[in-house]
Amino acid sequence: APGLYIVATPIGNLGDITLRAVETLRGVSAIACEDTRVTGKLLHHLGIKQRLVRYDDHASEETREYLLRLAGEGPLALVSDAGTPLISDPGFKLVRMARERGIAVTSLPGASAAIMAITLSGIPSDRFLFAGFLPSKDKARRDALAELASVPATLVFYETSPRLTDALAAIDDVLPGREVAVARELTKKFEECRSGTAQDLIAHYTAHPPKGEIALVIAPPLPAEPEDHDIDAMLREALAGAKAS
Ligand code: SAM
Repeated sequence: APGLYIVATPIGNLGDITLRAVETLRGVSAIACEDTRVTGKLLHHLGIKQRLVRYDDHASEETREYLLRLAGEGPLALVSDAGTPLISDPGFKLVRMARERGIAVTSLPGASAAIMAITLSGIPSDRFLFAGFLPSKDKARRDALAELASVPATLVFYETSPRLTDALAAIDDVLPGREVAVARELTKKFEECRSGTAQDLIAHYTAHPPKGEIALVIAPPLPAEPEDHDIDAMLREALAGAKAS
């Protein structure tokens, strides 16, 4: 049926493509993708031939109009290079416009590095805030962390390996003492999820410079400990009250 089909693709291990994703990519009339070479390789692996149209959110209005026309006439898939489209990837503008125009939109769920990192990290998963890529400049990175410092939830970021130790140094300064997990090369041969304090991780990754793709998970702020003398004072008050009555 016509409409926009948001299709998640693997984040490394090609076995993570879903049956429904394969069927859909085979059946659509065209696929909008970030990089035709990257998607071309995935399709080749799956034995699928398809019309590919390059798309990102900086694409011209004309490209978007063209894609929406395709989606109105037949099924159009949207994929990104890896993982779930729109999650630190293009697609938001296209989905928004499709919805505004009453074009059917559906999403085929699948891999996403942020979700996988949370599930692996051993850091509380009940509440999290995904904040995409940390800025690459140090001041902006520290400001971004400071803005989130008091959020009572696990924080999740995407990072690149050359910037990892700088990001950890900023985390150590701005969010001191929190547990951090570095989830690296997820679903791939050298997958690892290493956790500790930012200082532990800086020591490790300075000795073993990391390669590949990284998601960072940071534990929520510890609840402020009530100070001892406050408890003593409260007890004395309560006891005094009990005697008086
Ligand atoms: N849309 C993708 C998703 O759903 O995961 C994310 C796209 S974003 C442009 C790419 C970033 O995601 C990488 O720089 C890295 O931070 C993270 N990432 C992607 N694949 C990963 C993997 N296999 N292991 C760890 N992080 C990964």
